[in-house]
Amino acid sequence: MVAFADFHRRSIEDRDAFWSEQAQLIDWQTKPQQICDYSNPPFAKWFVGGTTNLCHNAVDRHLADRADQAALIFVSTETDQEHTYTYRDLHAEVQRMAAILKAQGVTKGDRVLIYMPMIAEAAFAMLACVRIGAIHSVVFGGFASHSLATRIEDATPKVIISADAGSRGGKVIPYKHLLDEAIRLSSHKPGKVLMVDRKLAPFTPVADRDLDYATERAQHMDTVVPCEWVESTHPSYTLYTSGTTGKPKGVQRDTAGYTVALASSIPHIYQGKPGGTFFCTSDIGWVVGHSYIIYGPLIGGMATIMYEGLPIRPDGGIWWSLVEKYKVNVMFSAPTAIRVLKKQDPALLSKYDLSSLQALFLAGEPLDEPTAKWISEGLNGKPIIDNYWQTETGWPILTICNGVEKAESKFGSPGKAVYGYNVKLVDDQTGEELTGANQKGVLTIEGPLPPGNLQTIWGDDKRFVSTYWSTVPNKLVYNTFDWAVRDEDGYFFILGRTDDVINVAGHRLGTREIEESISSHPNIAEVAVVGVADQLKGQVAMAFAIAKDTSGLTDDAARSKLEAEIMKVVDTQLGALARPARVMFVTALPKTRSGKLLRRAIQAVCEKRDPGDLTTIDDPTALTQIQDQIA
Ligand code: ATP
Ligand code: MG
Repeated sequence: MVAFADFHRRSIEDRDAFWSEQAQLIDWQTKPQQICDYSNPPFAKWFVGGTTNLCHNAVDRHLADRADQAALIFVSTETDQEHTYTYRDLHAEVQRMAAILKAQGVTKGDRVLIYMPMIAEAAFAMLACVRIGAIHSVVFGGFASHSLATRIEDATPKVIISADAGSRGGKVIPYKHLLDEAIRLSSHKPGKVLMVDRKLAPFTPVADRDLDYATERAQHMDTVVPCEWVESTHPSYTLYTSGTTGKPKGVQRDTAGYTVALASSIPHIYQGKPGGTFFCTSDIGWVVGHSYIIYGPLIGGMATIMYEGLPIRPDGGIWWSLVEKYKVNVMFSAPTAIRVLKKQDPALLSKYDLSSLQALFLAGEPLDEPTAKWISEGLNGKPIIDNYWQTETGWPILTICNGVEKAESKFGSPGKAVYGYNVKLVDDQTGEELTGANQKGVLTIEGPLPPGNLQTIWGDDKRFVSTYWSTVPNKLVYNTFDWAVRDEDGYFFILGRTDDVINVAGHRLGTREIEESISSHPNIAEVAVVGVADQLKGQVAMAFAIAKDTSGLTDDAARSKLEAEIMKVVDTQLGALARPARVMFVTALPKTRSGKLLRRAIQAVCEKRDPGDLTTIDDPTALTQIQDQIA
């Protein structure tokens, strides 16, 4: 094993040699002539002059050695379906889907929007697009017409692939009327809509526009569709960020850089091996789903589980039963899902044989210590590995790379900077680099961003530069908009988003620090803290908390008592300055569909402003509760 520090150093100091070695993990039609062209910063071009294909690397390449091995394991506890597609089956299905698209005139560079539930056809659709060089744009199936319309407008797809319905908790959620309405709202109209009819929700096809997938597929059972070799920099897909802090940004990804980055991450970060099984519980509508339900595991020659359903239905043991049944080696989920499981009977964890599992990876939001400890104990001390990354980066920025060198995790830290990432903490006011231990700064990445990261914002190079590269004074660096500190061992701790800082009487406080302090009260399950404008102090902290046990909170006196207790906790832990002006109790907090707290919306409501873009909110009544409380 190589020492990780050397591995990382080489990836920065001897960048081209390093990535040229990683590039050997994939198949090329033409080898690249130049590893990285950074002559026009901040725009990086990786593997210039090379040609390759993402679908070839995810599917066709494995036919020689593992055609009869499981590739895609589709499990739906919503429709009680379970089906394993081998690499041979997957290859056939992807070609059929690709043939349908080609028959509709879709060619290299055309966009195809995918608005689908978590079904195997969605995977076929993604792979079929990249097979023929079309650019997919997957929109999370939980979004309604308005969100969908803005994405149709931005991506201008030639074809949309959709389905009659999704299903959640046994309840059918029809898609078709939402799609029709979105197309009506959008000024761009797709040429065709390909409908996968699951026979869950009857619908009327639109004449001359809607095509039936089963009918079309039947025409192309044996059509051969070769992979279209595309330049390394050819866009593979666009995907919108979660919209936690504002209007979602259309992240554009290349082909070769992404393929190499994922191919390299499977052994080095996830310790996945060809023939193993990867189970990522995310959704294909998110970046984690793109990279680790679909592309990463398949590029790595693994079987991947695609799961439609809740983590607690039929019971909270369902995911663990799949780990046992399919001998899952690598599991990837989100803290929010683990918090859901935490409310279930812990015996459900010990009921199954989890010996195949090597590690559980978690990403998307801060991993709080109680959740990390609970799952770590439940999994008998198997490594719980936090991943810090963004839609923009496509793969982890910070984590523990156990496949390079084994290292211990530290609670509360996602780990060290991943190879390829030249991470710098900087002072947000001066842009000065902070090199000392435990200094708080903005987490930035020095260009060029490593392979796999966004090339630009779709159709908007200007916004790419102004959003990410122009916000740190005196420096051209990529801004993650997250605060962090690095300890003496090089482990980073994420302290929250840069717009989640409040300024009380000239003192800058991270809302997350206050939230952690409040959460340490034994009766607090979850809390959101925001800064609210105050005439006297500039800003004050406001807290909205969910109590674990609400039975005693029936009157104002009881609520005031708990509020006072919480304020005392904050006083002792952080000082009176950080004490929230009010702690109010709610039963739900407004979150994005991907489980992230929408602090900006809470703040706006508290300041009686328009909460702005709420297209990605999960439960609007959570915001109404807050509105009512402060009214
Ligand atoms: P938008 O950029 O549209 O406001 P978003 O930032 O929530 O939305 P994503 O790309 O899905 O969209 O999320 C990335 C962000 O999630 C990171 O910048 C960070 O704030 C947070 N995050 C992700 N993983 C972790 C983690 N392991 N620990 C702490 N925070 C994390
Ligand atoms: Mg973001």
